[in-house]
Amino acid sequence: AKERKNVCVMFNEWMETEYLGRMRLSLELSTALDSHQIFLQYQPVRDTITGAVVSAEALVRWQHPTRGVLSPGQFIAIAETNDLIEELGAFVLYAACLEAMTWREPIPVAVNLSPRQLHSGRFVPVLRACIRDTGIQPERLILEVTETVFLAASAGTVSQLDAIRRMGVRIVLDDFGTGYSSLTYLRGFDVDGIKIDASFIRDLPQSRKVGAIVRTIARLASDMNVYVVAEGVESNEQLEWLRDNDIPFIQGFMLGRPGSAAQIDAMLSEPVKRHA
Ligand code: C2E
Ligand code: MG
Ligand code: MG
Ligand code: MG
Repeated sequence: AKERKNVCVMFNEWMETEYLGRMRLSLELSTALDSHQIFLQYQPVRDTITGAVVSAEALVRWQHPTRGVLSPGQFIAIAETNDLIEELGAFVLYAACLEAMTWREPIPVAVNLSPRQLHSGRFVPVLRACIRDTGIQPERLILEVTETVFLAASAGTVSQLDAIRRMGVRIVLDDFGTGYSSLTYLRGFDVDGIKIDASFIRDLPQSRKVGAIVRTIARLASDMNVYVVAEGVESNEQLEWLRDNDIPFIQGFMLGRPGSAAQIDAMLSEPVKRHA
C-alpha cells in the first residue's frame, strides 16, 4: 500500500510538472500571440573575411507574463503538437519581413521553419500572402529547414519546397550533419545553402577528424554551388580555423548574439574590414 501511495505521489508530481505544465503552456501560448508576448530577436551572419553582416536570422522569443523570456526550445515542441505552430509560424514570418524592411541595407532575413508547417499544405499560400502584404522581395527571404523535414516528409513536402524556391525564396538546410542521412537529402533535393551544425564547430580546431569533416562539407557545398555557414562560432581560434579553411560565412555568439531588429540595423553601419 505504501508503494502504491509513493507511485501516486510520484505520478501526481509528474502530472503537475510535465503534463499540466505543458497543458498550461499550450493554453497560454494561444493567448500569447494575441497579447503581443511573442517577439523576435535577430542574430547576424557575417562574411568570414570582411566581417560584414550578410544576413540575419530571426529567432522567436516568448515574453511570458510570469516566467520571463522563454526560448524556442521551451515552447516550439508544444506549439507543434497542435495547430498553433501554423499560427506562430505565420506570425514569425510576417514580423521578420516587416522588421527586415526597416533595415538600412536590404540584407536577407532567415526564418526557421518547423516541418509541421508543411503538413497542412497551407504554408505556401501564407508565404505568398506575406510577400504580397509586406512587399518584401522574395530574394530577401531565406527559410531554414532541418533535415527532419525530409524524415517526416509527406508526399507534398518536396513539391512545396520546390514551389517556394520557384518563388525566389531560398531554402537552407539548418543543423547540417546531425540528421540520419545528410548526403541523401542533398542528393534528393536542391537547396541554396547549408549551415554546419554548431556541434561540429565546437570541436574545432582541436579535432583533426572534425576538421576533415567540415572541410569536406565545405568543398562539397562549393562544388554544388551551395553556400555554407558555420554555426555556433564562439572563439577566436574557431574563427581563425574557419577563415584559414575558406568557410565563407559564420554565425555565433562571437560574431553577435541575438538582439533586436534595431541592433541589426546599427550593425549595418559598422565599418567593414578591408582585406588584401
Ligand atoms: P537554430 O536555428 O539552429 O538557431 C541557433 C540557436 O543557437 C539559437 O538558439 C541561437 O541563439 C543559438 N546560438 C547562436 N550562436 C551560438 C553560439 O555561439 N553558442 C551557442 N551555445 N548557441 C548559439 P535559440 O534562439 O534558442 O533557438 C533554438 C532553435 O529553435 C533554433 O535553432 C531553431 O531550430 C528553433 N527556432 C528558433 N526560432 C524559431 C521559429 O521562429 N520557428 C521555429 N519553428 N523554430 C525556431
Ligand atoms: Mg536556424
Ligand atoms: Mg542551426
Ligand atoms: Mg543548430
